Amino acid sequence: MIEPVTQTRLHRAPKIALLYRYTCSMIDLVQKLADLSSLRDREALDFALVKLLVNVVHGELEAVRLLRVVGELGDQRWQNCATLEAGQEVPSRDRVWVDFNTLPNVKDYPDRQTCLMGGEIQREPGSPSLTIFPLGQQGKVEGVLEFQTPVAMDAQSEHLVTNILRIFLNVQGLLDYGEKDSLTELLNRKTFDGAFIKASMHDAHFLEMEQPDRRHARGGSYWLAVLDIDHFKRVNDGFGHLIGDEVLVLIARLMRLSFRFNDQLYRFGGEEFVVLMRCTNANDAQSALERFRLRVEQHDFPQVGHITISIGYAPLMADDTPGAGFDRADKAVYFAKGNGRNQVRSYTELVASGDLVEVVDDSHEADFF
Ligand code: GH3
Ligand code: MG
Ligand code: MG
Repeated sequence: MIEPVTQTRLHRAPKIALLYRYTCSMIDLVQKLADLSSLRDREALDFALVKLLVNVVHGELEAVRLLRVVGELGDQRWQNCATLEAGQEVPSRDRVWVDFNTLPNVKDYPDRQTCLMGGEIQREPGSPSLTIFPLGQQGKVEGVLEFQTPVAMDAQSEHLVTNILRIFLNVQGLLDYGEKDSLTELLNRKTFDGAFIKASMHDAHFLEMEQPDRRHARGGSYWLAVLDIDHFKRVNDGFGHLIGDEVLVLIARLMRLSFRFNDQLYRFGGEEFVVLMRCTNANDAQSALERFRLRVEQHDFPQVGHITISIGYAPLMADDTPGAGFDRADKAVYFAKGNGRNQVRSYTELVASGDLVEVVDDSHEADFF
């Protein structure tokens, strides 16, 4: 009687061990997915994705890269959002304010480009072997996820990655829903505070790395501009609210075309927009904003024809709150409104000329929302 039981046990043992390992890895995977879906920070989400994938892909992995496309058609680049190479604990990524011209061209990576255009997995066999997954659905692929492995990735791993990516994109979609304005798809006002603080932290970090003696020289690096459409009420009154909405969408598109890919573009509500940008000096900020003002002035809006926009801007100081920076730029745009509209006005220059009185922020609280 003992014999058959022992035999059965002997036969079952490897299966049980396998099942045990499978269950453990399932629990581990589900836990990691739960961690990932609880994240509300895009950078952390990108990092969590590549770290999770390294653990679930069968066999050796040389690198996993999460790359998004930036720039306009005709000059698109790859931005590295999270790369984890074998032996690395912490993923690397391009800096938030990386110079667009230093990023690699999309067309220099034909396999990635094919994946981007077709929305299908691309496999480049060889040693190393590349397996490239589209980041998004066909027609709306925002980038790729690339695996570099010593041998081709197996079908099971591909399947697993595809489904993890679906979860990742769902979480990202929820973040978009909370952070973006539904009409224009620009960032919404609620997101501004967090982004402002994050940008400040990044800058402090990079200044520290690059120029240790200039750690406190942040004033002047960041510029905040408030943009307000002139006489927008007339558009609504004359052509209806729907056409007014269309104008807002087109203004957002012109903003995306005009400003750099890493400038942060917000719709603050109504017909008011905000741009948070990094420029080396006041002239650069002025000319970027002037270029946009001119672009709007020259644009022929369907039915409406021509409209104009008034812009006020101010440099951000080292210990600014989001509210203080906004108030200064807002004062400058208010001045532009009272002095002919369709112009870009600098808060600093208006203070220097005596047209505005300096705003002193002593609250140090982000209390303007
Ligand atoms: P100014 O040159 O002084 O800025 O004049 P304005 O008419 O642009 O400014 P005002 O603040 O008097 O009016 C803003 C108008 O924007 C009022 C409102 O009808 C319109 N508006 C606000 N939000 C929306 C929106 O989401 N869609 C549309 N179509 N109109 C909006
Ligand atoms: Mg207006
Ligand atoms: Mg307004």
